[in-house]
Amino acid sequence: MKKPHIAWSALLVLALVSLASAQPPQSVAGSALPYSPSLDVSSMDKSIDPCVDFYQYSCGGWQKKNPIPPDQVSWGVYGKLYQDNLNFLRGILEAAALTKAANGSVTQEIGDFYAACMDEPAIEKLGLGALKPELAAIVQLKSTHDLAPLVARLQLNLGGILFASGSRQDPDNSEQQIAGLSQGGLGLPDRDYYTKDDPKSKETRERYLLHVQKIFELSGDAADVAKKNAETVMRIETALATASMTRVEGRDPYKRKNKIKLADLEQLVPDFDWPAYFRALKTPQFEIINVAPPSFFKEVNARLKEEPIENWKTYLRFHTVNSYSPYLSSAFVQENFDFGSRYMRGAKELQPRWRRCVQFTDRDLGEALGQAYVKKVFSSELKASTVDMVRRIEDAMAQRIGQLDWMSPETKEQALTKLRGIRNKIGYPDKWRDYSSVKIARNDFLGNVQRGTEFERHRNFNKIGQPVDHGEWGMTPPTVNAYYSGQMNDINFPAGVLQPPLYDAKMDDAPNYGNTGGTIGHELTHGFDDQGAKFDAKGNLRDWWTKDDKQKFEERTKCVADQYAQYAVVDDIHINSRLTLGEDVADLGGEILAYVAWQGATKDKGLKTVDGLTPEQRFFIGFAQWDCSNEREENMRLRAMTDPHSPSKYRINGVVVNMPDFARAFACKAGQPMVNPPAKVCKVW
Ligand SMILES: [Zn+2]
Repeated sequence: MKKPHIAWSALLVLALVSLASAQPPQSVAGSALPYSPSLDVSSMDKSIDPCVDFYQYSCGGWQKKNPIPPDQVSWGVYGKLYQDNLNFLRGILEAAALTKAANGSVTQEIGDFYAACMDEPAIEKLGLGALKPELAAIVQLKSTHDLAPLVARLQLNLGGILFASGSRQDPDNSEQQIAGLSQGGLGLPDRDYYTKDDPKSKETRERYLLHVQKIFELSGDAADVAKKNAETVMRIETALATASMTRVEGRDPYKRKNKIKLADLEQLVPDFDWPAYFRALKTPQFEIINVAPPSFFKEVNARLKEEPIENWKTYLRFHTVNSYSPYLSSAFVQENFDFGSRYMRGAKELQPRWRRCVQFTDRDLGEALGQAYVKKVFSSELKASTVDMVRRIEDAMAQRIGQLDWMSPETKEQALTKLRGIRNKIGYPDKWRDYSSVKIARNDFLGNVQRGTEFERHRNFNKIGQPVDHGEWGMTPPTVNAYYSGQMNDINFPAGVLQPPLYDAKMDDAPNYGNTGGTIGHELTHGFDDQGAKFDAKGNLRDWWTKDDKQKFEERTKCVADQYAQYAVVDDIHINSRLTLGEDVADLGGEILAYVAWQGATKDKGLKTVDGLTPEQRFFIGFAQWDCSNEREENMRLRAMTDPHSPSKYRINGVVVNMPDFARAFACKAGQPMVNPPAKVCKVW
């Protein structure tokens, strides 16, 4: 993945939401995406020596021109384009909401979903009443034994409560879907928040306790009861966190693999009624399930034995109200913002309601909204030119693999087979998801969210036992991001990430290859990084490297890990370069591939100097300007613990220090900060 990405379940808990403002909504919805070029000289700071700090040189002007808006936790080129997209989508949604359309049609579904979300008076009037059925079901729980069907029901409407479940590709047979369970159940963004002992982590836990208490108070508990309840939630979550994998462990697909028989699951967690659970989820019949990590599920069982039913009611009540907070009345929305966005990420202000509503629509009906989006922004010419760029980057990768002096011919052959097996998915899916069975009502916002979630959950569970659908996408078309999937062996570029200033059809190849070419190369190399190298051309978990090559590969990636471990994020917090290794290696490899492909694509074109910058310089400035950004310190702290991507500055400077082509382009000399000494130059691809 190219950019930090908040997983769907985390979005529910830590949704970047804002309270409804009292002012009437300003109608400034975009009828077209605003244009900004993929290389902007006014975004540079030419007073800085590019050989001393290339990021500052390329982005200093942008940073000055673009302070972080009060409702954002960071503000960068990607984030700005995403906000432009939201504004553009708002125009589509407002028009749909005014159109009379047949029930179940795309226009009706997205229009009514958006209109219901914007109907603040109705949402305010309902208050916590919207959750009556769920809360009543929790109150009625009689014993721990009855927990399973209720957990299933809450997971259907809400996502991951207590643990995560769904279908997944069989790690040994990537053409087949199997059932899977994985760790979850926490209210803080990572297990480390519960286990670390530094003052900041302790402070965060204290602040979280107050947040949990506040949610109970808003739900009607007296202050002293709410405080006691918060402690119960914290105790259960701490036990679950301690038994959870760290993020670094979770990067290893072998640690995520643990296929067992259903009967063995019943032995591992005997105090949970699994048959009742799967019946309530209406999953297809199956025999094998992936359960990872087992330590977590053992702890779930220990908790089930130890905690009385009253404590489970408390735990479920908190997670239900907390997760639904973004869709409830303003008091809940405000508390969700105060903790999840203001305290944890440093946002100063709530996002306007329309923006949240566009994001909810994109999340729950993304391929309906996406159809309207691509019609307007993704022409067949744009598709053809980006497909051509992808092909050229792949050719460059084949050429590089052929030339690697450290890889044996056997491994090279396997690598080339894998490269040829990659599916390129550009813009949008060939076949759109059909939401017509989801009832979307104009007067029932929470119900729409629940039915949308339930549709997606059933769609996911129904894949168990089915062959894999290779046409499926994991991102919606307006998303400003891209990804590679090791098990699918495909790269995915939504239309949203192929817009200016990232891919700029009006601009020449130099900045476009530096920018989007680098992103394509980035995703491509994920197929061959320390994780991708564990999956073969078909996406099966099988090491295809010789032992000797693997060792050489690890020596080379260790060079990258050692380099990034030197970089400080905030105070004395350094990059956890074991967590960011895959992304750092992809950033470096991607840019090298983009450079090779760009030279091939333009070799007879007679490139010119523009604005006093040579073509080579423009390639690298185009690269740096993909990630110009400002970020709040709180958000940097959170990302240092949870995000596999390095901070923007190091994603640029950490790459160019290893590229002799860069040093040549700017005539940088040995010993300058942007030139690694020869013994420390890292080179993987
Ligand atoms: Zn990535």
